[in-house]
Amino acid sequence: MTSKEIRQSFKDFFASKDHQVVPSAPMVIKDDPTLMFTNAGMNQFKDIILGNAPVKYPRVADSQKCLRVSGKHNDLEEVGHDTYHHTMFEMLGNWSFGDYFKKEAIAWAWEYLVEVLKLDPDRLYATVFEGSPEEKLERDNEAAGYWQHYLPNERIIDGNKKDNFWEMGDTGPCGPCSEIHIDIRSEEERAKVDGLLLVNQSHPQVIEIWNLVFMQYNRKADGSLEPLPAKVIDTGMGFERLTMAVQGKTSNYDTDVFQPIIAKIGEITGVAYGNDTRKDIAKRVIADHIRTIAFSITDGQLPSNAKAGYVIRRILRRAVRYGYTFLNMHDAFMHKLVPTLIDVMGDAYPELEVQKTLIEKVIKEEENAFLRTLETGIRLLDKEIAEHKGSDRNELEGGIAFQLYDTFGFPLDLTELILREHGMSVDHKGFNVEMQKQKERARNAAAVETGDWVKVRDGGTEFVGYDETECETQVIRYRKVK
Ligand code: ATP
Ligand code: MG
Ligand code: MG
Ligand code: MG
Repeated sequence: MTSKEIRQSFKDFFASKDHQVVPSAPMVIKDDPTLMFTNAGMNQFKDIILGNAPVKYPRVADSQKCLRVSGKHNDLEEVGHDTYHHTMFEMLGNWSFGDYFKKEAIAWAWEYLVEVLKLDPDRLYATVFEGSPEEKLERDNEAAGYWQHYLPNERIIDGNKKDNFWEMGDTGPCGPCSEIHIDIRSEEERAKVDGLLLVNQSHPQVIEIWNLVFMQYNRKADGSLEPLPAKVIDTGMGFERLTMAVQGKTSNYDTDVFQPIIAKIGEITGVAYGNDTRKDIAKRVIADHIRTIAFSITDGQLPSNAKAGYVIRRILRRAVRYGYTFLNMHDAFMHKLVPTLIDVMGDAYPELEVQKTLIEKVIKEEENAFLRTLETGIRLLDKEIAEHKGSDRNELEGGIAFQLYDTFGFPLDLTELILREHGMSVDHKGFNVEMQKQKERARNAAAVETGDWVKVRDGGTEFVGYDETECETQVIRYRKVK
């Protein structure tokens, strides 16, 4: 099956089970101060789940564009280095708002994977919540019981609260979840090590594909749990991982979702895929990041100096820098990948074709602007690295990292990436001090503050200070007022 057919088959399958198939919500979120980007399929249904919006359809399904580069879910550092985490990915999902519950959710997940997609049932595992005595929560025997219809007991694995109990926040809907994992290793590899030992071990070919969340409790402000009157099913399956499994590949990048883009990068750079680890990583980074950038532009989020725009700029620069260093791409090239991306994803997401010219223009301008400063900055950094090599210090001064950031537009993670290749790191404290100083200067100059504060919508929270400063993207942690 092609990836297009797989995506469609998911929607058709759940439509046949009386689900309303709805469009993806935007990936860039404009009206929620608690979240910059959609990071899961359930985001667009949050108000329904919280009871603040009416249930229009009790059963829905979709494919949601997600981005996991900030906040609770940040996979950026994995991307390209592993073969199954992306910045932007599609999450296939089905929901029940007060309608069906565990029995159907599990039965249909199984039916879809094994009967529709013909995945080998012997390669599947399900995890269930093991229970939590402190919270007087029992093991999720109900889910385990349903899994027993399909799986032998040894492939139903107990999982702890961290992996198998989902909570929206400090209060609100929550409940156990079951994750489906798949072992896609060769028969030979499988004979050597039992897949059971590799589930949840970050093995690139024994991976989680689908998370089924069973919201059955409401956590009250005092921390106690009460049954949720209208139970909710919330599932999410990584489309690219599913496609890898269905197409019998061992990397998401070997599927038809990415291969045309990887091939185009090969054509532009003249470097083949599969011969050199670092070059392959660079290609995966670029193939991944072009999607994120193109999709965020279609959502109206251009690269910029602040907040969501800066996150996007940072991702673009990360790709450019990988191309520059490992593929010898000293001229703008990312924008040339847009037509290929449209070939792959334009059917499912027509907004790409509609905005093609804008996407190409914005990317090209960003690339050129960055490449101009990149060279100067790299020279400065190389000089620093050479000087440190002769000494026993392997930490770059925060002030220099800040200068690179401020004057040459090097995101901190870019500087760190280059330094890591030389076994060096950055003095974060020093960097943050410089960042604060600059903010003070801006304030003293009576510059208009653009308000980087992230506010929590609900009352009852109190600001407790900076947790971490990641260039302009500030992560601020709140804690509940007791
Ligand atoms: P993992 O443990 O692999 O990081 P997760 O538990 O964080 O995944 P969930 O939040 O449960 O992921 O999301 C549901 C599904 O979305 C996962 O089962 C997986 O198939 C997919 N998924 C999650 N993160 C990514 C990502 N960064 N890139 C591609 N697919 C992802
Ligand atoms: Mg994760
Ligand atoms: Mg997981
Ligand atoms: Mg999960």
